[in-house]
Amino acid sequence: MQGLVTKSTGSWYQVQTPDGKRYEARIKGKFRIKGMVTTNPIAVGDQVDFEFEPGSDNAVITHLHPRRNYIIRKSINLSKQAQIIAANLDQAILVVTLASPRTSLGFIDRFLVTAEAYDIPAALVFNKLDLFSEEGLEILAEYESIYEDLGYPCFEVSALKGTNIDQVEALIKDKTTLITGHSGVGKSSLINALLPDLALRTGEVSGWSDKGMHTTTFAEMHDLPHGGSIIDTPGIRELGIIDIEPQELGHFFPEIRERMNGCRFNNCRHINEPGCAVLDAVEEGEIAPTRYESYLSIYHGNDTRA
Ligand code: GDP
Ligand code: ZN
Repeated sequence: MQGLVTKSTGSWYQVQTPDGKRYEARIKGKFRIKGMVTTNPIAVGDQVDFEFEPGSDNAVITHLHPRRNYIIRKSINLSKQAQIIAANLDQAILVVTLASPRTSLGFIDRFLVTAEAYDIPAALVFNKLDLFSEEGLEILAEYESIYEDLGYPCFEVSALKGTNIDQVEALIKDKTTLITGHSGVGKSSLINALLPDLALRTGEVSGWSDKGMHTTTFAEMHDLPHGGSIIDTPGIRELGIIDIEPQELGHFFPEIRERMNGCRFNNCRHINEPGCAVLDAVEEGEIAPTRYESYLSIYHGNDTRA
């Protein structure tokens, strides 16, 4: 039988068949992906074949269909062990706040680099709009203009008050969308606003399996009432990239990517080279200083900022 993986935990997967039936399935042995051993080689969004062990209702995943794309959880520059979080995505949304707890721009930029590296369109949802002072709103507008100019759609919402939720609904309609964010930003509240019938408990990172075992959910797909689905990532703080070389990093910053051909040296790192078109643009204020700071920080492997 073929099915869509709609939930992954540390030990089992939920697989949904086209008729809407859901089964709990496991994998046997190790699936290898591009030389990397993953702790959970199957992910939400995957299409898989599965079968039942003779004389039992234990479903076993036997085959993984080719993926259009996927995204993992791992720090930049750390290779090998990684967790695949989701596959076959149309887009990814990062929920952020500038108030309690403030999401750092470094964190936003690492998310965007990850999305670029995996070729997944990304959008930012700034939540807790209701908490913003006038000054806060100005800072918000500044940040939004940085990211909008780079081609990342930005939304200002209040999950609590229901403000602008319709804009996010329009963005995710008929698409498969990963939603992620730091804990406390209001990701669960936003998902509840998008899916009132689901009633996720806010602040929840784990649940109980059908068999009563306490499990951690890596990701879970929920169908949207008007078409499309979202993939929630409870407890996942940050996505990541494997095997990105520092020399490739500029490709994942759109404002660097579009200027790097203008650098004098074709192996320019855009750090201190003469005739660097990127440094010129930073100096002239065409590239946001915060974005360039994030580039340097990731380049030097300082990706531990919160
Ligand atoms: P998660 O950890 O990202 O899933 O965040 P939760 O949805 O659990 O929300 C964390 C806290 O922020 C809770 O106390 C929510 O009530 C609060 N919260 C969520 N959205 C908003 C919002 O739009 N405005 C305000 N003021 N608080 C919010
Ligand atoms: Zn350069």
